[in-house]
Amino acid sequence: MSLKKHPIVIAIDGTSASGKSTNAKLVARALGYVYVDTGAMYRTLAWHCLLKRIDARDAKAVAGACRRWKTKLECAEVSGLKAVRLLVDGYFPEKEIRLPETAAAVAHVAAVPKVREWMKKTQRDCIQFGNLVMEGRDIGTNVFPETDYKFYLDATLAERSARRAADGVNENLAARDQRDSQRAVAPLMIALGAVVINNSSMTSEQTSGLLLEEIRKMMSAPK
Ligand code: C5P
Repeated sequence: MSLKKHPIVIAIDGTSASGKSTNAKLVARALGYVYVDTGAMYRTLAWHCLLKRIDARDAKAVAGACRRWKTKLECAEVSGLKAVRLLVDGYFPEKEIRLPETAAAVAHVAAVPKVREWMKKTQRDCIQFGNLVMEGRDIGTNVFPETDYKFYLDATLAERSARRAADGVNENLAARDQRDSQRAVAPLMIALGAVVINNSSMTSEQTSGLLLEEIRKMMSAPK
């Protein structure tokens, strides 16, 4: 399916703490598009499992929780940024999904094939809100492989760990990257045709500036 007559999806994938969220938000704001944080959706399921005392490593139980949970997508505007939220029983667990225990559980939950199926469908449903800037690990490869706008962000492990530490988060990023890259279904990888940006020594202004420059070039290129 071509997206030409449909809303535009800008896919931004990459490793943990590679600046996806910061830059995806800057790009969404600049273009007036809706921002979608797909990592937040996986984190929401990890949080939900913790709350229901479901072991994140028990794939069958996690798939069951994902089949049963009652969710809703909404598009909210906060400080001029339109963003999609996944509500569980009407609640948006904004703070809870950033807790270390959620971060430790999320890559296990994200490796469950039935979960990825559910997430793909739900993430594709976000198109109902209009043009999107969607960030994650498999947007260009799996969720919206048909989009022409694919980016992959990365930075050195040292730089990424320093960024997380500056946010007050001490996390084993290498372990999460490894799990994300080695899972059987939709592993983290560079989509065919994606523009790769290593922003180890770039500011977010420079990274988002480069993203916007590339997007504008793609938009004006003859199809
Ligand atoms: O981007 P963020 O760090 O919030 O993502 C949390 C986790 O969710 C990732 O480490 C990965 O396990 C999972 N994820 C995924 N596919 C996506 C987005 C996130 O598997 N598209």
